[in-house]
Amino acid sequence: MTQQNFGTNPEDRMGRNALPGPIPLSYFGVYRCPVCRYGELSNLAMMDAFGCNFCSRIFTANLDQNSLSLADSLPPITWHWNGRQWQGLPRAGVEFGWEIAIAAIAIITLPTLLVGLGAYIFPPVPGSNLSWVPAFWTVATFVAHLTIVLWLIIEYYQFPVLLFLKAWQRRLLMR
Ligand SMILES: [Zn+2]
Repeated sequence: MTQQNFGTNPEDRMGRNALPGPIPLSYFGVYRCPVCRYGELSNLAMMDAFGCNFCSRIFTANLDQNSLSLADSLPPITWHWNGRQWQGLPRAGVEFGWEIAIAAIAIITLPTLLVGLGAYIFPPVPGSNLSWVPAFWTVATFVAHLTIVLWLIIEYYQFPVLLFLKAWQRRLLMR
């Protein structure tokens, strides 16, 4: 059986999917790496695993379930191959309920409210050099906490931000 390119040709990258239909996960295929989103995964000889030619990550595959797991991550990160692309599966043991949503909103709004309230109750001396600080601090607090929550949401949906950044950092430093 010859190697085929699944999901890695330029047509797919532009969103025009030229593939005839869903393609099962197989060791003869070449797939886009779900970590660096750039490299191609191909089967490691004699192993039930795939390796990325860009970030060098090793993945173990479960062909029956069309799933792929990052070999060295805890908790394990798993993706499902839907025939065209990888879909993140929720991490085992991590539930995403309304409690989390309320906590996320609280993390974003409460510190911002506190800082903003402080600036409102104790306004800076008008015209002083540092009168911009409370307003700036309020905005910075909001942005920082929003970033934390967005980061967690992205991680939850199986886009491993740190691994992605590390893969690209290592690649760029090698040049
Ligand atoms: Zn990769």
